[in-house]
Amino acid sequence: MIARVTLEIALGKDFDYLVPDDMDGLVEVGSRVKVPFGNREVLGCVTSLPESSPLSTLRSIIKVIGVRSPVTPKILELSRWIASYYCCPPEIALKAVLPVAVRKERSGWREQLFVRLLKPAGDPPKMSERQKKVLEILATRNELPLQELLELAGTTAQTVRRLEDKGWVEIATRIAERDPYARETILPTTDLTLSPEQSAAFQRIIGAMDQDKAETFLLHGVTGSGKTEVYLQAIAHALRRGKGAIVLVPEISLTPQTVERFKARFSSGPLQTLVAVLHSHLSTGERHDEWHKIRQGRARIAIGARSAVFAPVDPLGLIIVDEEHEHSYKQEEAPRYHARDVAVVRGQMEKAVVVLGSATPSMESFHNAERGKYQLLDLPTRADDKQLPIVRVVDMRMAGKGDKGPPIFSPQLKEAILQRLERKEQTMLFLNRRGFASALQCPLCGYVAQCPNCSVSLTYHRLIQQVRCHICDYKADAPTVCPDPKCKNPAIRYAGLGTERVESTLIKLFPHARIRRMDSDTLKRKEDYRNILGDFRTGKIDILVGTQMIAKGLHFPNVTLVGIIHADLSLHVPDFRAGERTFQLLTQVSGRAGRGDVEGEVFVQTFTPFHPAIQYARRHDFAGFYEQEIEFRKQLNYPPLGRIALLTLKGRNEEKVSFTADHVKRELEAIKVEVPDLIVAGPAPAPLARAETQYRYQIMLRTHQMTRLGRRLSVLLSAMSLPDDVMLTVDVDPVSMM
Ligand code: ADP
Ligand code: ZN
Repeated sequence: MIARVTLEIALGKDFDYLVPDDMDGLVEVGSRVKVPFGNREVLGCVTSLPESSPLSTLRSIIKVIGVRSPVTPKILELSRWIASYYCCPPEIALKAVLPVAVRKERSGWREQLFVRLLKPAGDPPKMSERQKKVLEILATRNELPLQELLELAGTTAQTVRRLEDKGWVEIATRIAERDPYARETILPTTDLTLSPEQSAAFQRIIGAMDQDKAETFLLHGVTGSGKTEVYLQAIAHALRRGKGAIVLVPEISLTPQTVERFKARFSSGPLQTLVAVLHSHLSTGERHDEWHKIRQGRARIAIGARSAVFAPVDPLGLIIVDEEHEHSYKQEEAPRYHARDVAVVRGQMEKAVVVLGSATPSMESFHNAERGKYQLLDLPTRADDKQLPIVRVVDMRMAGKGDKGPPIFSPQLKEAILQRLERKEQTMLFLNRRGFASALQCPLCGYVAQCPNCSVSLTYHRLIQQVRCHICDYKADAPTVCPDPKCKNPAIRYAGLGTERVESTLIKLFPHARIRRMDSDTLKRKEDYRNILGDFRTGKIDILVGTQMIAKGLHFPNVTLVGIIHADLSLHVPDFRAGERTFQLLTQVSGRAGRGDVEGEVFVQTFTPFHPAIQYARRHDFAGFYEQEIEFRKQLNYPPLGRIALLTLKGRNEEKVSFTADHVKRELEAIKVEVPDLIVAGPAPAPLARAETQYRYQIMLRTHQMTRLGRRLSVLLSAMSLPDDVMLTVDVDPVSMM
């Protein structure tokens, strides 16, 4: 028998090997194998079992890893699609579909000693107090890990061994599953009665499921409209039909709160393992065990961030992509796949229903719904009849009329915070930049502290008295005088603001308020996130300041005020999606207010109060925003009308990078014969012109025929030879234009 294998080392093609007789029946498509390659041994994945090989002499597979093949043929097919659509070598695509925790050669189960109670016949012999205690504990629990038993009984292993000798207990090695949620008590919940709107959406989803139709739905529902309840009941329907489900949520909203909602409905009592969770905060061991629970079919619902789209749920009935507009669904390293789009493709391949949910759908998905590729489902009102919050736009050009320049807090926002403090209600303040000041500038000579490796200014972090690069993490002590030897001005200034400065100003303004900040600088340990949110929920914090981390998915009934300190921050970036992103961010942040009984209020501080992204967000008007934004995209033939592939060339020698980019462009022009509508723009320095000491040039390709372009591009790139010190990356359907 012959096995065709994709190796894990970067070679870009498959190799054939002989399957030795003693491995007959063990090797199947998807098996992981160790094979000889040159004078090395490497790992790979079997992608097919061909009848014959073009080569006459083949080497043999050394070893099969694991008993069940980790990659199902369906996932293998998906990885093939990723390689071809996103222009990457097959082994890179394969790596993406198998988590690291599962890929290792040695099986990653943890073995532990367990003690089990036996009941020998005859009279109980004389026993020591300690032995009695051990039996007492086992009588209620039947079986326990040895270590835990010893802790509970306050004794040593010796005691338990004596009991074993007498035949009262048995000690055995067993696989101990690492359950990341083992210590949680989750109270079960039952179905809520669906509102007529929810029910209409639910009926259409299960209608498609009952016909095994690979349909994609776009569930457009305002924040708090009860999308999650629709997901939960649709999942229950999939289970009733003997199928499993995958739930994707953005990493940032994969909070204990979110996971709990799914566990509470499906995973209590004897169904403990029905829901498996996959995300980066788990230990490698926990991830290994959760993944195998799915592979073995004991878990039927996989919930996780981006890479959970590859969870080996089989048969698969439903994929849910919550907050489908989120950019974190795009992987920013090869393979540069978009989990939402992969979900839709996987749904097609496995005849599963896909539900994309959002309060602010991406332009891409709404456009697909408009042209009938997706089915649109609408939930226009909040489930509990709560009003959407009142959004007030504060014109900071007015607030800054004095000689000291604009303040951080407008008088309106300050007053509103004060009111909340008096009424014992909570406030969330949002600014999408961490640190104290975004730049350190000398007002005399104009010096600005720059990163030596990147084309960005350094951010000042006051608490640790450092300046830091937010691109490459370069760190230096903050200068106390201007570093220019000719200047040495001691009055160096901080321009722009970050969350640290918002926090310190708040402390001065409201000395009695309990204020906490949440951004990646304050979250050092795994539990920090939970602790801060826990304190906020239980009312131990009055004002929570944070970056986008606090914008998503959380709801706290006592939050009645949300302040957006500087709404323009995301508008002035060189990216055609700046308006869309700002609209989404404002809508999401506003959605945090008024989830309880008191109506919510939102203040948006901005220097461009009449920008459409801000005005439509103020009126909660998605349709209005979409209409004007799609016009702008049409004029420039930008997505969702056309598709983009972004080529980035990087290297230390700028001239060489620019020269190579010109060469690549000339080669690309040749593709126009086969892709007639192709537009090749650039090369030009990337918006982030230098990062981590590398100069960056971009070429932008636009077409309506991305699949065809991708195929041509793969061929062209593999034939092209580039200088050793210039690197080329391809990003198909990029979400970041930097
Ligand atoms: P979304 O996911 O759209 O933001 P949620 O599913 O979080 O909305 O729902 C918001 C709140 O409304 C939750 O507290 C949820 O329990 C409640 N809810 C959802 N559906 C119903 C319903 N049919 N009847 C009553 N309450 C509901
Ligand atoms: Zn840097």
